[in-house]
Amino acid sequence: MRKFQKLGVNDLLVKSVENLGYDSPTEVQSKVIPILLNKESDIVALAQTGTGKTAAFGLPILQKIDSSSKNTQGLILSPTRELCLQITEDLKTYSEFIKGLNIVAVYGGASITEQSKKIKKGAQIIVATPGRILDMIKREIINISKIEYCVLDEADEMLNMGFYEEMKNILSFTPKDKSTWLFSATMPKEVSSIAKKFMYEPLEVVIGSKNAGTKNVSHEYYIVNGRERYQTLKRLTDFNPLIFSVIFCRTKRDTQKVSEKLIDDGYSAGALHGDLSQNQRDLIMKSFRNKQIQMLVATDVAARGIDVDNITHVINYQLPDEIETYTHRSGRTGRAGKIGVSIIIITQSELRKIKSIEKLIQNKILQKNIPSGEEICLIQLNHLAKKINDAKVNSEINPFISEFKKEINHLSKDELIQKLVSVEFLRFHKYYKNSKDLNLSISSNSLIESKSNKKNSIRFFLNIGKKDDFNWMTLKDLIKENSKLSNEEIFHVDVMENFSFFNTYKKFKSKVISSLSEVKINNRKIKIELSNSPSKKKKFDKKRIKISSSKEKSVSKRKKSKYLGFGRKTKF
Ligand code: AMP
Repeated sequence: MRKFQKLGVNDLLVKSVENLGYDSPTEVQSKVIPILLNKESDIVALAQTGTGKTAAFGLPILQKIDSSSKNTQGLILSPTRELCLQITEDLKTYSEFIKGLNIVAVYGGASITEQSKKIKKGAQIIVATPGRILDMIKREIINISKIEYCVLDEADEMLNMGFYEEMKNILSFTPKDKSTWLFSATMPKEVSSIAKKFMYEPLEVVIGSKNAGTKNVSHEYYIVNGRERYQTLKRLTDFNPLIFSVIFCRTKRDTQKVSEKLIDDGYSAGALHGDLSQNQRDLIMKSFRNKQIQMLVATDVAARGIDVDNITHVINYQLPDEIETYTHRSGRTGRAGKIGVSIIIITQSELRKIKSIEKLIQNKILQKNIPSGEEICLIQLNHLAKKINDAKVNSEINPFISEFKKEINHLSKDELIQKLVSVEFLRFHKYYKNSKDLNLSISSNSLIESKSNKKNSIRFFLNIGKKDDFNWMTLKDLIKENSKLSNEEIFHVDVMENFSFFNTYKKFKSKVISSLSEVKINNRKIKIELSNSPSKKKKFDKKRIKISSSKEKSVSKRKKSKYLGFGRKTKF
């Protein structure tokens, strides 16, 4: 039996979700679908965005609706126009094989006449934002007095946005005997009170733990001097060349300013905030979805309901005023089973907030070092090498290549490499070569401890990384096992594609080198070397550094300074 069938989903719907590539149900789907299909009860489901909750309520509602009747039987309320459109789109896709079904989206900022026309044709399911539907109910365009199912999606967001009165009002037009399905990422008092007031003995289903963030997101923070926030943002971006991120600012002004600065500095960024027209916002979102924009700088309000998959990083350029908002921000990444990172750029004076957020998300937030210019250059060089290695050769451009060859025939292979890397890397290298250490030596736990940590610590380079299937936790385990150091004696573990860094105390230097240089991974010996930690401030181009290509070749000191001597401003 197919996996969705086991939950009780009918063949027509199973066929469409399988066409979408949904091989097996997500946790929220496994837990919620059987209940909704088999019981006529109210339900409160606590699930983050990105966990597959649209199908969790969408498949049952589609299965239960009578498509031969034109009556409105299902209402789905969502906080934003974006989410409303997304749900409508998803439901239409799931119901591809169901005949006679009409799902209509109703939301503000668009023609009410057009929406009314669609409603008049008979909409069995209406997906709506609160303000617009209330208006249409009052104008008697929409009649929800016979609905059987009412979904309150992202209920906490709707309440956050001040829709309590509208929700109450809308629900007063619905029949008492309907089923209400409430979905929320968090469970603040306001959501509990809605459940108490408007629902009948709701079953509670918790995905993960209450108010907790998703398991797929790791959390980290960087302590900065307030004046160096923007520089830190740039470093973190440059350290992650494939970043696809949402950057949250507190105010519209900051949002606009940061995005303008990023654009000036050559990044593909865009701003999303309330001072833009709906049309401008739609355009920005379209570019972001298509990945023409890699960094979306947004306010919390404007970013509500952004359901874009594959966001690699959420960056809290500033923390929100209400810490609960952090869960919504970080929930924008780590969707659909993917891994995501939520980054907090924080000043010393705000550090106490870290503890409160840890409590809220029931997860640890790791303090990380802001990467040094050297580390960023290594990453960017590696990225460039990977891009070249992965480039697909297209025979259609052969005629142009022969022309190109004529122009560069006089160059030796080494010269050609130097020049190519220069084109890609020089400006970039120039920017970072004398860059300073942006790290402040403070930790949220202990200022003194961290200062002494820093002074007495050394940083190591290892030629193993993500490509050898390590992440910071498994690498730390490997170091611990071999060196017999304790968890606290190994810190700032950073795992990159082909190599890694970690810190330990100076006194363990020889122990670490001797124990780890004997270790073999995939039949090759590990290379361990001292890295130039940011605090050492050696001259950049005199450093001895190793760059590992996918073929595990290390580049000699002489060659490397050649590499580092040329380049361009590679942003992504
Ligand atoms: P949602 O939380 O409903 O917005 O879903 C987040 C993402 O997960 C969307 O891109 C869905 O298409 C995708 N998705 C939902 N359910 C599944 C599933 N069972 N298998 C794979 N992807 C899914």
